[in-house]
Amino acid sequence: MRTTTGWQAEGPAAPLRRATLKRRELRPDDLAVRVDYCGVCHTDLHSVRAHEGGGAPPLVPGHEFTGVVTETGTAVTRFAVGDPVAVGNIVDSCGACAMCRAGQENFCQHFPTLTYGGTDRHDGSTTLGGYSREYVVRDRFAYGLPAGLDPAGAAPLLCAGITVWEPLHSLGAGPGTRVAVAGLGGLGHLAVKLAVALGAETSVISRSADKTDDARRLGAHDLLVSTDPGQMADARDRFDVVIDTISAPHDLGPYLRLVAMDGTLSQVGHLGPVTVETLDLLIGRKKLSSAGSGGRAATAAMLDFCAEHGVAADIELLPSAQVNEALCRLGRNDVRYRFVLDMTDLD
Ligand code: NAP
Ligand code: ZN
Repeated sequence: MRTTTGWQAEGPAAPLRRATLKRRELRPDDLAVRVDYCGVCHTDLHSVRAHEGGGAPPLVPGHEFTGVVTETGTAVTRFAVGDPVAVGNIVDSCGACAMCRAGQENFCQHFPTLTYGGTDRHDGSTTLGGYSREYVVRDRFAYGLPAGLDPAGAAPLLCAGITVWEPLHSLGAGPGTRVAVAGLGGLGHLAVKLAVALGAETSVISRSADKTDDARRLGAHDLLVSTDPGQMADARDRFDVVIDTISAPHDLGPYLRLVAMDGTLSQVGHLGPVTVETLDLLIGRKKLSSAGSGGRAATAAMLDFCAEHGVAADIELLPSAQVNEALCRLGRNDVRYRFVLDMTDLD
């Protein structure tokens, strides 16, 4: 076993604590990555709040990070020491099922191994995430960071970015399509940037008008206020694709009513049971969908697209020692638009 330092959850109400973490010794197809920047995803906050502490499996959040390869396993050929790399929220999959063969490792029928809170396929240990100075990852699930992408601003692409990229891409967002993004947070602001870069006419749906200037700066055409019934009624049947990134449970009806005939609402924010009035689907033959993370090929393609189009997250960079402040502020919606932790203070 090798060791590193990171930020570990101690239970729902307790702050994360700096701790010494165990990492496995490199297998032939592993890389050791020095983690430089790790994004703070709302999923991290959900996970910390749900963690029971005590005897529960350890929780070290963090599943969107960039860094540098420091060591390679004996069978690794794609990477060398010193390469800049990025890692997202999946670090392994079976590689043999229909989903994996189709390049959708994120939907592995034998369940993809999550970057934290997952179960390692070989030794059964609980995976510990990127709020740490080193991560050991199977080389297939590390991505070369394209030149021109700022490593701090690129880190959130690996969860927030790919999670909205896959539905935008698979639903055909591009010139001539109208896209709306509900919830302007970490996922939402990247969805806007990506939809705009893909050529779609893009709108934001937010709870207030406060983010209107930001929405425009991100390239959006306009911002609809979801709490204004008049604005929502005027936008009825307007969008081919609605990407819903809202982090809290909510009624999907008002958002389905904004979808155009044969269009799709992709709900990627709140995961869990939903109740839908079928008439909201029937009228206009609308579709309800979801997505999460991305396959290896799509992730690499998204990174190339972002490098080409200058897309990265709008970040507030904090020393990793301020992780608890970041989580607290994220819970208050006080972030524009992604916290990224600088891990150098863990040396
Ligand atoms: P975030 O930065 O906190 O953004 C969420 C946005 O949702 C907020 O900025 C806010 O937008 C809106 N919102 C928050 N509370 C709301 C409420 N009660 N009612 C209506 N709108 C509300 O979070 P994030 O990191 O983007 O993550 C968003 C969600 O996606 C989280 O639930 C996260 O767990 C989930 N997620 C899913 C996947 C996946 O694989 N599908 C991957 C990553 C994250 P406005 O201020 O504009 O209203
Ligand atoms: Zn995430």
